[in-house]
Amino acid sequence: MSAFYREKVLSVQHWTDTLFSFRATRDAGFRFLNGQFAMIGLEVDGRPLMRAYSMASANHEEELEFFSIKVAHGPLTSRLQRIRQGDTILVGRKATGTLITDNLIPGERLLLLSTGTGLAPFASLIKDPEVYDRFERIVLVHGCRQVSELAYGEEVVTKLRDDELFGPLLADKLVYYPTVTREPFRNRGRITDLISSSQLFNDIGERPLDLETDRIMMCGSPAMLEELRQMFDGRGFAEGNHSAPGHYVIEKAFVER
Ligand SMILES: Cc1cc2nc3c(=O)[nH]c(=O)nc-3n(C[C@H](O)[C@H](O)[C@H](O)COP(=O)(O)OP(=O)(O)OC[C@H]3O[C@@H](n4cnc5c(N)ncnc54)[C@H](O)[C@@H]3O)c2cc1C
Repeated sequence: MSAFYREKVLSVQHWTDTLFSFRATRDAGFRFLNGQFAMIGLEVDGRPLMRAYSMASANHEEELEFFSIKVAHGPLTSRLQRIRQGDTILVGRKATGTLITDNLIPGERLLLLSTGTGLAPFASLIKDPEVYDRFERIVLVHGCRQVSELAYGEEVVTKLRDDELFGPLLADKLVYYPTVTREPFRNRGRITDLISSSQLFNDIGERPLDLETDRIMMCGSPAMLEELRQMFDGRGFAEGNHSAPGHYVIEKAFVER
């Protein structure tokens, strides 16, 4: 048995010069929890070239969706950004990752904090009915430099709100808070500042950060995650993992090479 599933690209959408998303077939045997990642890639010169990718689709969907960066000279994404409908991608058989609800102590409000392609695991989680059972409020924060980089997330949320089945379920529960650092926009600023100043909570008309009831998932650049980790640790939040659930969980959206 090969280590990878061979899946067919069904559609590709380019959002900006640096971001695209694509859908692919999903083998019936490929199982994952919403929020997890797998190794995906392309066969290059007869060998697999693989990178970690979060599933942006939910595990109840028949197809797979991914949200990707385009790194100019990146070994994988310089090629992956050229895929078209009908092309083959490789998908590793095993999904893993810490951004799963079982790694969190029960709470009331779930903060999903992301920058850039760090949105991907949360695009999956906000489609999970169990998340809405476990939490009363889900606040999805997506930080980018430019407004155009928010487009994919905006579409995911809009589609979900318009969905016959999900729309009513999340109408009073999901808060979407996009924010931009380098252009004028209705919400501006870095996620760390928006939380430490309570601006985020003021803007959405909710109570400030609360250790008793808030649970947090974070996915973004290593630098942003380190800043957030220090801030939350300083307020008594504890990191969770597979062996011991905590107040927050972290996944890097990429590693610096
Ligand atoms: C757990 C995990 C989950 C990931 N999920 C995704 C995902 O859903 N979507 C996705 O696009 N990437 C994701 N990545 C990053 C991905 O694995 C690759 O790094 C990315 O596809 C670029 O591959 P590359 O071979 O072109 O360049 P690499 O050689 O892998 O990367 C080159 C450099 O590009 C920068 N870079 C890489 N990825 C990103 C990114 N996503 N955002 C900003 N800068 C980046 C970094 O500075 C890196 O050093 C994930 C990484 C990890 C560890």
